Amino acid sequence: MKIKKTCAERVWKQFEDLAPRLRLSTTDRVVYTHLFRHCRLEGKLQLRFSIPWLARGVGLCGNSVRWAVRRLIARGLLRLIERSKAGHLVEVRLPEEVPAVAAGPNDPRPLCPNRAGDFEELDFLKHASLRRAIHLRERGLCFYCRGRLTVRTRCIDHVVPLAELQDNSYRNLVSCCRKCNSQKSDLPAADLLRRLHDEHCLTAAELAARLRVLDALVAGKLPPPL
Ligand SMILES: [Zn+2]
Repeated sequence: MKIKKTCAERVWKQFEDLAPRLRLSTTDRVVYTHLFRHCRLEGKLQLRFSIPWLARGVGLCGNSVRWAVRRLIARGLLRLIERSKAGHLVEVRLPEEVPAVAAGPNDPRPLCPNRAGDFEELDFLKHASLRRAIHLRERGLCFYCRGRLTVRTRCIDHVVPLAELQDNSYRNLVSCCRKCNSQKSDLPAADLLRRLHDEHCLTAAELAARLRVLDALVAGKLPPPL
């Protein structure tokens, strides 16, 4: 799909202003800029790419760029259209096109769903009923190891650590057991899943399934029941 070419100067200024508000890391910035260059600056709205291509282009390892892509999706700078063996198909948004959900932690989120104008804006950590909704979504199983949870053993975990993303939306919170929560610490969620597979807690099929669920989560496809 071809669109009118974008004014790079205007976008660069807007992106520089937006990036601190979204708490984008250096890697996030580099990855967004590279995708922007190959998509919107070429007059295209969407881009299909593979993680190895992206990693080569920005000179970083695959794991780093994979997580940057997930954060950019979570922050609304990218919209995931499709993910398959052929790679990611995303819409690369201009800063001015980023939806309000991506406005970041500086915008206070309402604590109570009754007062919330927008589901996407809810802080799912600060209100008991919303934390319960996160637990309900996982149906009593740990998001990572799939062990059975009780009210006593379950806790809420940030998929991307709070210090890194400052995101308490349903896209970044999961219900898990205390053991996985302490093992994960600041590890990327995908790394914890791989470690659980290495320790024979997850089969190869379960690992692949959990990684797909993880992608669906950060893409906003798993809203909890309210
Ligand atoms: Zn667990």
